[in-house]
Amino acid sequence: MKVLLPNQIANKATDIEFSVLAELGIRGLLLDLDNTLVKYDSDELGLEFKTWIDTARAQGFKICLVSNGRPRRVRYFAKSIGIPAVIRAFKPKRSPFWRALEILDLMPHEVAMVGDQLFTDVLGANRLGIYTILINPLSEKEFGTTRMVRKIEKRMLRRFVKKGLIGAEMVNKRNGGAEEH
Ligand SMILES: [Mg+2]
Repeated sequence: MKVLLPNQIANKATDIEFSVLAELGIRGLLLDLDNTLVKYDSDELGLEFKTWIDTARAQGFKICLVSNGRPRRVRYFAKSIGIPAVIRAFKPKRSPFWRALEILDLMPHEVAMVGDQLFTDVLGANRLGIYTILINPLSEKEFGTTRMVRKIEKRMLRRFVKKGLIGAEMVNKRNGGAEEH
């Protein structure tokens, strides 16, 4: 179960503090795309996220997209942001994370994975010992399977909260989860 536990939970990627990561020796960011940087149905990276990525780069962080999303879409965003991408990632498989590390020329302990899904982003990265940051999904509009996964995800997060492993506040923000028990 610990393999599903994120190291950090943030409401949005843009809430992540680079100084905290730098203190941990982290020099690279592996970023999920859909619902982490953009909503599923959006074709444009919001200014807030663009600025955040620019700031990360200016502070010396190396960045790579790692996405299970549609290859054309992932390539489009990678190109427009100007960062490399691992497409057809099939997270939580280990291989896409290794590929991203290879691209960035960094070791697992030198990067943080930022994503909105416990069973792909967090699980996959944790398997390599990568520092994991779970953020709340940008959109609540999701496909059938993802919606089902979200329920299990929520249950899992609640269990972590009960054990005192993560704070309740952030978890309750997820998809209006506060009212459900
Ligand atoms: Mg995602």
